[in-house]
Amino acid sequence: MTCAIVTTFPLCSSAMPISSNYPERGFCRDCLALQKAACKRCDACGSPRVVRHAELYELNLAHIDCDAFYAAVEKRDRPELRHRPVIIGGGKRGVVSTACYIARIRGVRSAMPMFKALEACPEAVVIKPDMEKYAAVGRQVRAMMQSLTPLVEPLSIDEAFLDLSGTAKLHGKPAAMVLADFSRKIEAEIGISASIGLSYCKFLAKVASDLAKPRGFSVIGKQEALEFLASKPVTVIWGVGKALSATLEQNGIRTIGQLQTIERTELMRRYGVMGDRLYHLSRGQDDRRVEPEHDVKSISSETTFDSDLAAFDDLIPILRALSEKVSRRLKAADIAGHTVVLKLKGSDFKSKTRNRRLPDATQLADRIFTTGLELLRKETDGTRYRLIGIGVSDLGAPTTADPPDLIDAQARKRALAEGAIDALREKFGGKPVVETGYTFGRKVRTRPAPDQDN
Ligand SMILES: [Mg+2]
Repeated sequence: MTCAIVTTFPLCSSAMPISSNYPERGFCRDCLALQKAACKRCDACGSPRVVRHAELYELNLAHIDCDAFYAAVEKRDRPELRHRPVIIGGGKRGVVSTACYIARIRGVRSAMPMFKALEACPEAVVIKPDMEKYAAVGRQVRAMMQSLTPLVEPLSIDEAFLDLSGTAKLHGKPAAMVLADFSRKIEAEIGISASIGLSYCKFLAKVASDLAKPRGFSVIGKQEALEFLASKPVTVIWGVGKALSATLEQNGIRTIGQLQTIERTELMRRYGVMGDRLYHLSRGQDDRRVEPEHDVKSISSETTFDSDLAAFDDLIPILRALSEKVSRRLKAADIAGHTVVLKLKGSDFKSKTRNRRLPDATQLADRIFTTGLELLRKETDGTRYRLIGIGVSDLGAPTTADPPDLIDAQARKRALAEGAIDALREKFGGKPVVETGYTFGRKVRTRPAPDQDN
């Protein structure tokens, strides 16, 4: 296929200008040479890693994801492990955190219990995670991304969206080549590899980066989006988890192609707000912008009930379970919050929030819960609620959080008990092995799917 000329880039040095007369000729990912002919291998260096696509020089939205990140960092630091199966994990949680690609071929997967992983791959080298080291490497990778564009939106320690629109002049080459250059650089300078997805929107950039791991470079253009998506399972769509895919399956919908045949109003009638998302994403329509890193303002958790609740006693165990969830997330992120926020939504869909600022910041489920409970007591006046949420805002470092409470000896005891519960929970892989009296034996009446964490 030959496209009209849309872009010409005045490339530096002796390289010839990129003419999208022949976009399908592409360029070599190893030596970046533009291809003179549509051969399989690079006509300059002979590498098979030539990327070609009709829209190659028009696409600017990328998702970069480092390959088997923790394992890759360890292999970099211990070259003798390079050709051996490596599993990062074990420790208190007893599950696989990351497996290198050699271990993956043997059937090892993330989140697999360690004993199972070792059954599948007994000769694997198991290394305890060194989060400090990975965070430092993650920061290096992030800094390199930010040198390409200010529009970098991190999704985790080792992956991010990048919007490279308008950067071609600055770099003297189109986004596709900037990205290929980036992946060469992190291999050479940091010693790990990444996979890149290039598209016109976030959804498809993320799907693309997953297509050819490790060291992948996949492109999904506008022209092919509909057809590309049609054969894929609905679970490829962001936000379609186990619960929703089961519901869709009950309605006979397994592929994105099936969603493409259903009207928007019908999808919204069936699945509410999510129906709108299903409609647009199934058609490759995603106008979310790349949002550069911003500070988290609050951490909260909420749930919608199967049927509306009004009684204080019915709401107590739910509030407790949500408080524990918020607390776990605060502790995991190593932050604390100063203000407890209770959210309630009535059967009339009207929301209200109630806040209370604590004398000092907290990470403790018990403090979040007892404060939330005081706020809730005033709101249980017979009003029927369909949703309850609890969270904390005014976030900061946990250094001065939860000081030993000399006045309230009971609170101190409860804080110590909570520490013990946390330790047990961690030992048993995060499962609620210990329940407090608030939730024990109580059926916490929430719908399975719509738990939302913000
Ligand atoms: Mg990754």
